[in-house]
Amino acid sequence: MVAYNVQVAVDAKHHLIVAHEVINQGHDRSALASMALAARKAMGKRKLQAIADRGYYSGEQIKACEDTGVAAILPKPNTSGARAQGRFDRSDFIYIQKDDEYQCPAGQRALYRFTREEAGLQMRRYWSSACKQCPIKSQCTPSDYRRISRWEHEDVVERAQQRLDQMPDAMMVRRRTVEHVFGTLKHWMGYTHFLTKRLPNVSTEMSLNVLAYNLKRVLSILGFNKTMTAIQSMGK
Ligand code: SF4
Repeated sequence: MVAYNVQVAVDAKHHLIVAHEVINQGHDRSALASMALAARKAMGKRKLQAIADRGYYSGEQIKACEDTGVAAILPKPNTSGARAQGRFDRSDFIYIQKDDEYQCPAGQRALYRFTREEAGLQMRRYWSSACKQCPIKSQCTPSDYRRISRWEHEDVVERAQQRLDQMPDAMMVRRRTVEHVFGTLKHWMGYTHFLTKRLPNVSTEMSLNVLAYNLKRVLSILGFNKTMTAIQSMGK
């Protein structure tokens, strides 16, 4: 089945679409950095905060954002089964940066052991020698030791989490900024398929919709006369 996935970055102040792209990947996980960078460039900013939903979560993408001056804010999907099974979650382990160790819920320290590659990422592995004698081990792990993995660039995703913690309404801001835009575009397009076929044509069709959306939006912000003056001055 052919499917198109429309990516848009919307400026939270004026609700203008500052970047868009049509991709034919069925997920958003690899789209964050390129969209955020395109938005930063279009807005002429050196730095930018980009809010996204959890579908965009990828440590590598968050790092790529940070490397290009974009501070990503997005929630981490909860993929750990530990909490659901009544055991301590990864977030119950506190990283002690100065020692490069984790403090576990029993107050023990999980020490760095070795680094190995997992799915192309360098993952550092930690565990405590105290696990076997731990009185709360049943709440922690069915294995001999509770092993903790830490990506070599985990500090990047920790900073993203800190930004999210400092902005509790981030997801509300995201919703009210982008959902209205998607709703309007879908309404215009009749909640149906694209009129064209193949990615280059669909991209053009989407660009025309975005152009119309932004033009209407600018007209309502500036009014007709100022919009015309701004358009005429662009050619000079
Ligand atoms: S099992 Fe190990 S990591 Fe888990 S709480 Fe006990 S000592 Fe800490």
